[in-house]
Amino acid sequence: MGKFYDFIVIGSGASGSVLAYYLSKAGARVCLVEAGKSWQADTWPDNELEANANLMWNGGMDSTRDAGMVLLRGKVVGGGTIINNCLLDRFDDIALDDFRHKSGVDFYQRDTMDRHYSAIEQQLSLETIQASDWNGNAKLYAEGFDKLGLKRAPLRRGQHNCQNDRNDCIVCLGGCPRESKQSMAVSFIPKALKEGLTLLDQFQVHQVVHGKSHVAVHGERQNNRQTLYSRKCIMAAGALGSTDLLLRSGFSDQLPALGQGFHCHPQFMSIALMDEIVDSHKGAFQSLKSDDSRFRAQGFKLENVFAGPIAVSLLKAGFGEQHQNFMQQYRRMACIEVAVRDEVPGTLRHSRNGRLVIDKTLDDVDKQRAEAGLQQIRDIFAAVGAREVMESPLVIALHLMGGCSIGQHAADSVVNEQFQVHGFENLLIADGAIYPMAPGINPSLTIMAQSHRAAKCILNDFGERSITQEATQSVAAPRLQEVV
Ligand SMILES: Cc1cc2nc3c(=O)[nH]c(=O)nc-3n(C[C@H](O)[C@H](O)[C@H](O)COP(=O)(O)OP(=O)(O)OC[C@H]3O[C@@H](n4cnc5c(N)ncnc54)[C@H](O)[C@@H]3O)c2cc1C
Repeated sequence: MGKFYDFIVIGSGASGSVLAYYLSKAGARVCLVEAGKSWQADTWPDNELEANANLMWNGGMDSTRDAGMVLLRGKVVGGGTIINNCLLDRFDDIALDDFRHKSGVDFYQRDTMDRHYSAIEQQLSLETIQASDWNGNAKLYAEGFDKLGLKRAPLRRGQHNCQNDRNDCIVCLGGCPRESKQSMAVSFIPKALKEGLTLLDQFQVHQVVHGKSHVAVHGERQNNRQTLYSRKCIMAAGALGSTDLLLRSGFSDQLPALGQGFHCHPQFMSIALMDEIVDSHKGAFQSLKSDDSRFRAQGFKLENVFAGPIAVSLLKAGFGEQHQNFMQQYRRMACIEVAVRDEVPGTLRHSRNGRLVIDKTLDDVDKQRAEAGLQQIRDIFAAVGAREVMESPLVIALHLMGGCSIGQHAADSVVNEQFQVHGFENLLIADGAIYPMAPGINPSLTIMAQSHRAAKCILNDFGERSITQEATQSVAAPRLQEVV
């Protein structure tokens, strides 16, 4: 017989860690299970290749079925927040209104969401990158925008004492040994552990079984099969992970919308070679974003961005001397990306042998959005005197959303306004999988905010007092009988 908890949370990324914290804080017995490993500040992989291999699903080499896009997602305690840039934006009114209209779900509105955003933001150290901290790449971005009369804005980042102007550790995307970046590993997870959370890392869930009074979670930890039980199970395995788990647990017959509506903000990177040294790798990789209402209306945004040498080498096609010559100019590279608010969704499904298949081909409307952004980048680089511009053929997907979208009816959505899977009240989802469409804005702060709301819904439903009382009593025996 496996252990019994009030709640099992599957996945320790932006959603799972927030839920684990608020539920533990209310006195519930919570178990957070995570397929990836737990790392400490002094044990993070010390080079890019090791980081990709150890911190991402399939070494960061997941791709769409047509191989047109590479998808990156974290497999580590802290999930995507360990390998992301931690740019934390609230949704604007355009995104909130679109979400509300598409889903019919009322909480996607300014007043309600602002309360949840504030609750999350109070738990994190947030800093807006100042001009004094800009690296050479950000300075060129600002110069180009200003020469063309385009509006720009500083980015807000979850960080604490990063000393942006002085360091060149280049490891923001592979854990943060300074413990500056506000990933879940330095924010919500340690707080949840203090509240009594049980964390099981390297526990990969294979199946969930929904019962009337409990949920069984079957998985494997270090080659040992294990089953855990809880009253309710919150799936927070990310858009791909949560959808995959529901598919492999046999829910597709009852949930026709399962796997529909997959979005990913496809990103296109352009690298300019400059005559002078730029040192884009120093300090914060990203400091500025476009703030032009025309770009928003056209469905794209531009960010100054950079990456470590291995990632940059993957962006350039070819090999041999010509590739080496390109890489030797690493310190002279400036980089801007266009991120598209993708309109046409893809689908997630299982192949006959049970593997997750990601069908997402760029449609004409999304290609037009990308081209509009790329043309702006060409103009910006021309304005700052770029010698040559390389537009990477590799399209990257970092913001993975949808597959279990939120809505009112089981015919066209997977979870309801209380975050319960339609027809299965003991199963809940509040992660990126429930997004009903692409917002065109960094997604993780809203994932945390909606997870804060989900924790409140669960506690209202469950009765905060009863959890607290029960948690202080010895209640294991009756619950275990219930499971048997
Ligand atoms: C390189 C990169 C840069 C990014 N930069 C930004 C940024 O600056 N700002 C921003 O807002 N967003 C950014 N993102 C996106 C952001 O990180 C994600 O949107 C966010 O982490 C998604 O949260 P989530 O809770 O839905 O899933 P995740 O954070 O992906 O967490 C899911 C967790 O579930 C685990 N899991 C999956 N399946 C199982 C299973 N079967 N059993 C057990 N555990 C499982 C995974 O290992 C993972 O840890 C970036 C992403 C990447 C890859």
